[in-house]
Amino acid sequence: MAGEFQIIERYFTRPSGDRSVVLGVGDDAAVLAIDGLAAVTVDTLVEGVHFPRDMAPDLVGYRVLAVSLSDIAAMGGEPKWCTLALTLAQVDEAWLGEFARGLFELASVHGVSLVGGDITRGPLAASLQLIGRVGERYLTRAGGRPGDDVYVTGTPGDAAAGLALRVATAAPQGTQAERGAAAVQGAYAMALRERFERPTPRVAAGRALAPLANAAIDVSDGLLADLGHICERSGCGAIVDVDALPLSEALAALVPPDAALEYALSGGDDYELCFTAPRSNAAAIDAALAACGTQARRIGRLIEGSVVECRRGGAPFAPPARGYTHF
Ligand code: ADP
Ligand code: MG
Repeated sequence: MAGEFQIIERYFTRPSGDRSVVLGVGDDAAVLAIDGLAAVTVDTLVEGVHFPRDMAPDLVGYRVLAVSLSDIAAMGGEPKWCTLALTLAQVDEAWLGEFARGLFELASVHGVSLVGGDITRGPLAASLQLIGRVGERYLTRAGGRPGDDVYVTGTPGDAAAGLALRVATAAPQGTQAERGAAAVQGAYAMALRERFERPTPRVAAGRALAPLANAAIDVSDGLLADLGHICERSGCGAIVDVDALPLSEALAALVPPDAALEYALSGGDDYELCFTAPRSNAAAIDAALAACGTQARRIGRLIEGSVVECRRGGAPFAPPARGYTHF
């Protein structure tokens, strides 16, 4: 059975073409050439708590990096270097190979180098620390001002619906027309599942927004909850126009309108960006996001006060309580 050093050598040592990695995996610590300001974040995924026991290992490897990339994106940073602390219940080389494949696949997309880590025995968990570069103007939760527009990227709610859809669906039966309709539903369900299993951290969008937005956060707890964090830190309130929420075609097709709204407002795990910016930057924001291929929608604005309110058809709207189980 492979020992700790063989595991590191086999699965976690990849040459980095990055000259900023002066010394990578293999010594007592890595040495990096960090020029200017760095943003640092760490996240831990514990089996059975943050990911389901049966989750494919490549998706766990992908996810542990994706959630930290999303944090750096929300700071408007450029992700650069990471370290990985793995806790393994046993040495399962097939699992490790797939985990590493998922991790390095996403790392190479973003030019991130794995420069060190740790392996220990215990209940399965992965902890990844990511360091990114930020410019003098980076994004925080605290920079929002009353009057700012509130935006969200992508189509919120998909990941939470996709998680609910992980429950196995029965093989389609019935007439050809019924089977055809089931196939369309199946394709939508796959699309939502993919949004939970392989969230897209909005790194390019975050960097593009750094000079233009006043505040930003990544949506991990749910849009209203995370917008609430911006409001708290920025000392203001917000109005969200739920009619403006960009719902995906798949979400709208698979769940009733009220459930779709609830997923979009309260569902977690989207890893989209919620940000605020002065109206005077609207055109520049549209252009900057179009250039990096990310959609964003204006969904409301910051106001004086401390409350996050929703409006539907112009009237106050109490968001549906959590707890839909439509699948
Ligand atoms: P130490 O005893 O000095 O902490 P380790 O034996 O834990 O060293 O690790 C040896 C080297 O392998 C170090 O450079 C460490 O950063 C690296 N390393 C250990 N585990 C991992 C991992 N999961 N991924 C990447 N590098 C790792
Ligand atoms: Mg160690």
